[in-house]
Amino acid sequence: MPRSILFVTLDSCRYDAFVEARAPNLKSLAPLCRAQSPSHFTYGSHSAFFMGFTPGDASRREPYVNPKYGKIFRMEGGGHPGAEKPHVTLSGHNIIDGLKNSGYRAIGTGAVNWFNPERPTGRVLSADFDAFAFAAGPKLQAQLEWIDATLAQVPAGTPSFVFLNIAETHVPYYYKDAPWDPAYNPCVAFGEQNDAAECRRRQVACVEWCDKILEPLLERFEKDSVIVCSDHGDCWGEDGLWEHGVSHEKTLEVPLLIRLSTDG
Ligand SMILES: [Zn+2]
Repeated sequence: MPRSILFVTLDSCRYDAFVEARAPNLKSLAPLCRAQSPSHFTYGSHSAFFMGFTPGDASRREPYVNPKYGKIFRMEGGGHPGAEKPHVTLSGHNIIDGLKNSGYRAIGTGAVNWFNPERPTGRVLSADFDAFAFAAGPKLQAQLEWIDATLAQVPAGTPSFVFLNIAETHVPYYYKDAPWDPAYNPCVAFGEQNDAAECRRRQVACVEWCDKILEPLLERFEKDSVIVCSDHGDCWGEDGLWEHGVSHEKTLEVPLLIRLSTDG
């Protein structure tokens, strides 16, 4: 039977903030890779991920961490085949559709507005899942409860593809009951009140909080494939830029962890 797949995106999480964070559950998945994302904003990156173009390090001649060399998800007819065999080859109009065609139950939850099915723009990324929950974030605990309840309805023997987009790491960087005021956002494009040190302190703390909360989900998928990355980073004042949605080294640089399991 194919192994289930968990794909987590820590929205906007910078590589350096992830490195700094005490995140033993996530960091024990696989060696941490400093990767470049295919885009600098949520929709661009996820639409590329869902077509098999995951973040990568182009300098490494090895599959998966370099998707040009070998893809985790290779869509039939979708771009360069790579130097090495993909982890899986899929038929369909994206990896969600392709995994469904391969017998997976596709379950997704997103917390930023590009995943809001109430909006025409949010329908594009969410439409193909068998079940999708939009949690106007940050609401990771509610998303995890929904995943548990939804997985409980998947028949035994059916592999699942679970996608989770997390908003705690997105501006204003906040988790439930965090000891700071989310009304103050230290990272506003063209803002006058920005504070790079506060951005870093908050985002690192958000990663640490998410890491704790994610432990049961990661345990549930301990024999399965798990991919964790950011969709993009944020600028914290580099070159006078703040937040994301602009092409810059710091918006493209993301953490990437890949642990792939083969069928069994
Ligand atoms: Zn994003």
